[in-house]
Amino acid sequence: MGGGMKLNHEGVVDKFVRKYIAADLKSYSERTQKAVEPYLTMGPCDQCHGSRLNQEALACKIQGYNIADLSSMQVDKLLEVISKLDVQENHSLIKTLQDRLTICQKNSTHRLSFVHILTYY
Ligand SMILES: [Zn+2]
Repeated sequence: MGGGMKLNHEGVVDKFVRKYIAADLKSYSERTQKAVEPYLTMGPCDQCHGSRLNQEALACKIQGYNIADLSSMQVDKLLEVISKLDVQENHSLIKTLQDRLTICQKNSTHRLSFVHILTYY
């Protein structure tokens, strides 16, 4: 037999991520949660700022705004951005979007973002 030995070993970072970040920390005992807590920081991701979209998706921009910007934009502002798009005036998709957003704008008693509309309408 040769002298080599093949071992698979999960690194400490991979193990920590798998056990305490990818999994639900709340499923562990209070003692474990307290022990792990100092090593965790909760907050929006540095890369996507909480949009959960990859860099390629976020790099696509319309009028300087990416999909995350447009989704969280107030309807008034979104309508303004859409109205400036350089497309044929009666492009059906744009026209439909404008019509729907205008209806939402008229029917709502408070300021809505596009994300709210997708959630509630
Ligand atoms: Zn992210």
